[in-house]
Amino acid sequence: LSDKLDKALHVLKGHGSITEVNVAETLKEVRRALLDADVNFKTAKEFTNRVKDKALGQDVLTTLQPGQLMVKIVKDELTELMGGDTVGISLKSSPSVILMSGLQGSGKTTFSGKLANYLKTKKTKKPLLVACDVYRPAAINQLHVVGEQIKVDVYSEEGNMDPVAIATNAIAHAKQNGHNVVIVDTAGRLAVDEEMMTEIANIHNAITPDETLFVVDSMTGQDAVNTAKAFNDKLNFDGVVLTKLDGDTRGGAAISIKSVVNKPIKFIGTGEKMDAIDVFHPARMADRILGMGDVVSLVERAQEQFDEEEARKLQKKIAKNQFGFDDFIKQIQQVKKMGSMKDLIGMIPGAGKALKDVDIDDDAFKGIEAIIHSMTPEERSTPSVINGSRKKRIAKGSGTSVQEVNQLMKQFDQMSKMMKMMQGGGGRKMMQMMGK
Ligand code: GDP
Ligand code: MG
Repeated sequence: LSDKLDKALHVLKGHGSITEVNVAETLKEVRRALLDADVNFKTAKEFTNRVKDKALGQDVLTTLQPGQLMVKIVKDELTELMGGDTVGISLKSSPSVILMSGLQGSGKTTFSGKLANYLKTKKTKKPLLVACDVYRPAAINQLHVVGEQIKVDVYSEEGNMDPVAIATNAIAHAKQNGHNVVIVDTAGRLAVDEEMMTEIANIHNAITPDETLFVVDSMTGQDAVNTAKAFNDKLNFDGVVLTKLDGDTRGGAAISIKSVVNKPIKFIGTGEKMDAIDVFHPARMADRILGMGDVVSLVERAQEQFDEEEARKLQKKIAKNQFGFDDFIKQIQQVKKMGSMKDLIGMIPGAGKALKDVDIDDDAFKGIEAIIHSMTPEERSTPSVINGSRKKRIAKGSGTSVQEVNQLMKQFDQMSKMMKMMQGGGGRKMMQMMGK
């Protein structure tokens, strides 16, 4: 896991319980992050629904480290969404034929070279590159330059404007010259058009490739999905190549494409050089997306936001003198899940940061819960009604003494006062009080 992820988890660990509201809030943020990363709306929504089901199914709310579990669920689902496992390419026939498709500028020519180089060095194959982009002389030349760089033969036919014929001839040439992999680079347009689609479909039908790869620039975001869909409708391609992932793209295109066309992403391009190619690992991609702070920091932020909301509600109550034992016990119950008194104080809105380092004895509040439970709802919301006889009843009911009830009343009183002071900006005064 990346540093950022670690850090975020660390923060979450100390962050207490995730409530149902909090899960919803968190998922809203996750969804926003996905949308920001160019995942389409439907996919993002389905994704967060799945995470929610899983989170509730695993009872995230009652675990000790809900934040961590939440992040794990998000990461697992993200991995699953991008295909789960790594999918290789099929090189069965001899020669194996690989057809590149995609828009102009997506990185087909560059990737053709990278793949040839990869197969040559990693799989000891003898590839042949084929130039079928007949409309631009520069394109043919570009492939020759690439071929020279990686020392792979390039097949092209000067003056022949029929890419189907060139591709067919190239395969015959490969057979004669002992090439066991043929990589066919094709022309692309700036946008999907009928002519281009017909041409690539014709090539596809003529050479029946072992692998048809759809190459897409990961920086094109939402458009990538529509393009992928158009190409898939026509070619029923076998896999996706995601290029230009070396920039600060978040990889949202990967998620969208996978879920829209349901084809595996097989390779990624991470630079202009010939060795900037990687097999696609869904789990790593999930890490990348999370590690970039997209989701994790948002999970974190959502929690903070939630805390702030709670704090605001509480502040209103304090201002209206409505802070009661119910609110008090809510804080305690939250802490009980985490098991530390210090964290209780940490949860008191506004006091958290100031008091984090003050030492507090966990035992000091023993019995508090029992006492509060023995109070009537009225006594909890309006503690001022608790007179002597009520105290006696409460002490009896909770198995404590009147003295202990008095002590709690005093503590509660102090806490209410402190909170009022904090609202008036008297945080320092309060700390002095605590110091005593
Ligand atoms: P084609 O029109 O589909 O053949 O695209 P090209 O292979 O000619 O690539 C278009 C531009 O994108 C070129 O300038 C490439 O150097 C660049 N390019 C291709 N792949 C990558 C990549 O993975 N990372 C970066 N940074 N640039 C890339
Ligand atoms: Mg090209």
